[in-house]
Amino acid sequence: MFSVDLSDKSGIVFGVANRRSIAWAIAENLNRAGARMLFSYQGDRLRGTLSKLTSDFIDPLLVECDVTDDAQLDNVFEKARQEMNSLDFVVHSVAFAPQKTFLQPFSSVSREDWTQTMDVSAYSLVAIGRRAGKLMTQGGSIVTLSFLAAERVVPGYNMMGIAKAALEASARFLAFELGPKGIRVNSISAGPLRTIAARSIPGFGTTASKASSVSMLRRNINHREVGGLALSLISDELGSGITGETIYVDAGYQAMGMILNPDVDE
Ligand code: NAD
Repeated sequence: MFSVDLSDKSGIVFGVANRRSIAWAIAENLNRAGARMLFSYQGDRLRGTLSKLTSDFIDPLLVECDVTDDAQLDNVFEKARQEMNSLDFVVHSVAFAPQKTFLQPFSSVSREDWTQTMDVSAYSLVAIGRRAGKLMTQGGSIVTLSFLAAERVVPGYNMMGIAKAALEASARFLAFELGPKGIRVNSISAGPLRTIAARSIPGFGTTASKASSVSMLRRNINHREVGGLALSLISDELGSGITGETIYVDAGYQAMGMILNPDVDE
């Protein structure tokens, strides 16, 4: 039987807040494949949850980090260097936009809210990619999480759509710069999944149920399906030829045009 073996690999996972986090679905797969992980979490209140979740993982490391703080990012990578020596992968599954940016018209966004959303949700990938590149001495894989609003107007998603567009473009530029070192950088554009981040988006439930009725597969995706693609992108055996890509895990939703068949448009 073929199975992915990452038992000699180690990496950092940013963005586990609880067991519904997309980063957790990815981490579970990486753990099953034998990888060792450093989990970076935002704020002390998440440490207990993470330490319970990872209690049977392979020697996990837990390091607090707000991704807008360069000193805290340096600390994460220094801990990784001390404990793991080199890195093989990084999962970037972090985003934030102030609640009001989802509620008000897009054009009302303040300079401050624009900057904060871009900082947490897009610049953080660049700040992380730069540091990871130095520790990926044998090549590596960086995976980030995006959403359809990077390319299309998803009403209400507003500022986060702008940040996702910047995130996907940043992933491509990083992929170009890190390519000669054998480091791959890809974005997974996931369909709607119920998580803490998704709960803060007004109308999320309606979007999710609409997406499931008109997607090609006539259903929504689940966490495991995103975890599966992330594992493939991180594994050299499966993902070694893929970089600079945005890959959709959305049951075919993004490739649909106008719905002309009334049986589908309900
Ligand atoms: P989540 O709430 O479980 O994860 C978001 C994570 O971002 C949390 O762990 C949070 O602590 C972290 N974070 C926010 N601000 C931070 C900061 N300043 N410093 C460090 N960490 C910070 O929700 P999720 O849905 O798993 O989100 C993960 C990623 O997936 C996000 O980029 C999100 O936009 C993306 N995504 C989600 C969906 C969905 O429907 N849930 C769909 C497509 C893409």
